[in-house]
Amino acid sequence: MKIVVCVKQVPDTTEVKLDPKTNTLIRDGVPSIINPDDKAGIEAALELKEKLNDGSTVTIVSMGPPQADVALREALAMGADEAYLLSDRKFGGSDTYATSTIVAAGVKKIGFDIVITGRQAIDGDTAQVGPQIAEHLGVPQVSYAEDINVEGNKVIVKRKYEDREHILELPIPCLITALSELATPRYMSVKGVMDAYRAKEVKVLTFEDLKDMFNPDYIGLKGSPTNVFKSFPKQAKGKGEFYPDLSADEAVNTIVTKLEEKHII
Ligand SMILES: Cc1cc2nc3c(=O)[nH]c(=O)nc-3n(C[C@H](O)[C@H](O)[C@H](O)COP(=O)(O)OP(=O)(O)OC[C@H]3O[C@@H](n4cnc5c(N)ncnc54)[C@H](O)[C@@H]3O)c2cc1C
Repeated sequence: MKIVVCVKQVPDTTEVKLDPKTNTLIRDGVPSIINPDDKAGIEAALELKEKLNDGSTVTIVSMGPPQADVALREALAMGADEAYLLSDRKFGGSDTYATSTIVAAGVKKIGFDIVITGRQAIDGDTAQVGPQIAEHLGVPQVSYAEDINVEGNKVIVKRKYEDREHILELPIPCLITALSELATPRYMSVKGVMDAYRAKEVKVLTFEDLKDMFNPDYIGLKGSPTNVFKSFPKQAKGKGEFYPDLSADEAVNTIVTKLEEKHII
C-alpha cells in the first residue's frame, strides 16, 4: 500500500500578518512549521504502515518554494520513506484551485493508494485543497477524519461532525482529510534526523516533470481563478463587560438594557 501525505509548510502562528499594499502574507522573520493537521496525517500514515506491516510505504508531497525542504526532511526524520517537493517559479501565486491541480499532478505521477491531506492549513484556512485534489484524481474522499483503519481493500474512516460521528467505508484508491485530533505526532529520533539529511533524499519535481499531467493554463498566478480584492487581519474585539453573578432574569434584563442603550433594539 502506498500512502501519500500532502504537507504544507506554514508560518508558525495563527496570527498571520498581511502586507496591506500587496495583500500577501508577511513571512519574513516568522519561523515555519508543518501545518498541524498535516503532521497528524503523517503520524496516522506511519501508524497505518506499522499496523499493516506488509511493506506499505509513506510518501510525503509538498508544493512550495525550496525552503519547504526543511518540512519534508522533518517528515522523513519522523519515519516517512520518501519525500517530493513540487517546486517551480511557474507554480508561484497559485490559488487553491491551481495548488490542488499541481499537487494532484504530483501525486498521480508518484502513484498512490491512499492520499491523506490536512483538513485545513492554518494560514490559508480554506480547507479546499484536500477535496479539490480528490476531484482532480477522480477518487472518493472523506473529510474531517479522526480515525483511519484499513480492512482488506477498504478504508474505514471515523468522520467527525459538530454533534455526531459517522463511520464511513471507502474503496482504495481514496483521499482522506485529517483533523489534528487524528493522531499525536511522534518526535523525530536522532537516527531519523541523521537519516533525513544523510541517507534520504528530497526529490524535486518541476514544471518540466509535471507539464504533461495538467493544463498549464490552470496553474500559477495567471491560471488562478481567485482574485484577492482586499486582505485584512481580524480586528481585535473590545474587552467586553462581565457580570458573573447575575441570575438568569437579571442577565436577560441587563442584556436588553444594553441593547436598548445602543439602539440595537
Ligand atoms: C490569487 C492567489 C495567489 C496566491 N499566491 C500565493 C503564493 O504566491 N504563495 C503562497 O504560499 N500562497 C499563495 N496563495 C495562497 C494559496 O493559494 C494557498 O495557501 C494554497 O492554495 C493552500 O490553500 P489553503 O492554505 O487554504 O489550504 P487548505 O485548503 O486549508 O489546506 C488543506 C490541506 O491541503 C494540503 N495542502 C495545501 N497546500 C498545499 C501545498 N502547497 N502542498 C501540499 N499540500 C498542500 C495540506 O495537506 C493542507 O492541510 C495565493 C492565493 C490566492 C487566492
